[in-house]
Amino acid sequence: MKYCTLCKRYVEPTKSKWNWGLFILLCVTVVGGIGYAIHHVFMKSKNRCPICATKQLIKYSPEDVEAKKLEKQEKKEARKEMIDNVKNKINEVRE
Ligand SMILES: [Zn+2]
Repeated sequence: MKYCTLCKRYVEPTKSKWNWGLFILLCVTVVGGIGYAIHHVFMKSKNRCPICATKQLIKYSPEDVEAKKLEKQEKKEARKEMIDNVKNKINEVRE
């Protein structure tokens, strides 16, 4: 799943559709038709939004990135607190 920056939601990326109009047009020049067919067959990257067909897909939504950052920060703070607790306990023992 990828996040579409235009639809602002997670989508399943798809391959761009076979364009018959373009194919027939390119077939006027035989090389163009063959070229398009080859291009379509070998172009396997699924990187288009099925709804708006944009290529602007990213791995995570901005909200998810923000949430992940916060999670990381919280873990960092929790660890710091734990270390502080241990330090305090050591100091208590010393006294
Ligand atoms: Zn989209």
